[in-house]
Amino acid sequence: MYLHTIKENMAILLFFVCHWYLSLFVQTFFLHRYAAHQMFTMSRFWERFFYVLTWLFQGSSYLSPYAYGVLHRLHHAYADTENDPHSPKYSDNLFDMMWKTKAIYNDVLNNRATVEEKYKKGVPYFGFIEKLGDNWMVRVAWGTLYSLFYIQFATAWWQFLLLPIHFLMGPIHGAIINWFAHKYGYVNFKVNDTAKNLLPFDFLMFGESYHNNHHKFGGRANFGIKWYEFDPAYPIILMLNWIRIIKLKPNNDLNYM
Ligand SMILES: [Zn+2]
Ligand SMILES: [Zn+2]
Repeated sequence: MYLHTIKENMAILLFFVCHWYLSLFVQTFFLHRYAAHQMFTMSRFWERFFYVLTWLFQGSSYLSPYAYGVLHRLHHAYADTENDPHSPKYSDNLFDMMWKTKAIYNDVLNNRATVEEKYKKGVPYFGFIEKLGDNWMVRVAWGTLYSLFYIQFATAWWQFLLLPIHFLMGPIHGAIINWFAHKYGYVNFKVNDTAKNLLPFDFLMFGESYHNNHHKFGGRANFGIKWYEFDPAYPIILMLNWIRIIKLKPNNDLNYM
């Protein structure tokens, strides 16, 4: 009986965990480490492939690799100042920061913001997916698919409370780091801003939470530095480099972008 219940609950649990990690993977690998920081290069084919993957995995909460790349470079350049697109210093709560970030994101995406050329240089742009992913009907269609899955497989009412996390997965992952990793955690390096390492063992955020390390060594493909700081995205990056889907920049360990 008990085993039967676990089995019944498996579908929702698996769906949630898969969506969480797949969405997080494209965010950290493609949007953050590639589009914004260019820690590695890839051919135009693979760039488009990962663009499509970002749309598939983030679905209703698709984040534009272009706008993310530009915004994130601004974040590193102006961290914790008034020009930072998202700093907890200038918001009373997490939702206010998310709301402000959304406005700047839309300005950059729709070319309404004046952005210096260096922040846009080399940031990928694939018009077809950008338009498709940002289309509100497409976003609603993804949300409907998630809901239908829950209607089919949910075994208790409270499971439906997880649905909003699916709807907003991409921005939620961003906000966890941009808010909490600029407020709480430990510091390995002295930096000019409030970036901290949120978790000593980052199994929840795929290495993203080693944010203090990352603000210190912006071009370093491995976010973990201390022996216990395991960055789950890094072995995947090494593997993709080994099979030549991407090409890690030489000495990316030493880059101080
Ligand atoms: Zn930061
Ligand atoms: Zn970064």
